[in-house]
Amino acid sequence: MNPMIGITTGNNSDGDYFLRRKYCTAILRAGGIPIMLPPISRPRSALGICDGILLSGGGDIAPRLCGIEEYDPAFLFEASPERDEYELELTRLAFSRDIPILGICRGIQVLNAALGGSLHFHILNHTQKLSREQPSHTIHIAENSYLNELFSVDTLEVNSFHHQAIRTSANGLRITAVSEDGIAEAAEGVGKRFCIGVQWHPEHMNTRESDILFAALCAKASQGKK
Ligand code: MN
Repeated sequence: MNPMIGITTGNNSDGDYFLRRKYCTAILRAGGIPIMLPPISRPRSALGICDGILLSGGGDIAPRLCGIEEYDPAFLFEASPERDEYELELTRLAFSRDIPILGICRGIQVLNAALGGSLHFHILNHTQKLSREQPSHTIHIAENSYLNELFSVDTLEVNSFHHQAIRTSANGLRITAVSEDGIAEAAEGVGKRFCIGVQWHPEHMNTRESDILFAALCAKASQGKK
């Protein structure tokens, strides 16, 4: 049976719930059934029907959720308190129940913030002008990491569309890839079946590693199928 993969959604400028199609097609290609999770769907109930969770990319997380009250709003893009609150709770629940989680871009930041880690709120040089499928920087993948085992490579060329990033990793998370300028680009849940955050957008890259990553999420989700 195909695993059901809940994918979180954002808001567009009209206030509609919004999700880029590529997240759904990547899950479908990997053998999963994508289920869109708007931030009004109750996390506990939503997890009752999902075998895995994909935290999608999108706008910035509000700094106050990481304990920072003083912040220049000029550097906060597409913030959504509704989405923040929903995704943080969904992530904490999925993590504690060991439901497979893949966090992409904003999703790795949500994963880290949900578990108590801190973020950089405005870094430079990680928002590429190149098209989405093209890589713009290299990452180094830690030895003995799940990602290294999965991809069988130590370095990878990735795309980059973020100005937030992990600052200090949460308890229970390990940073397992960094860029050449020292920015965390991947993190893994310690001792979890499958809990990975990536700072790049694999759904836009037609690469072997993208296929492997989505396939691994769906395979692990399938093993825990309800
Ligand atoms: Mn980057």
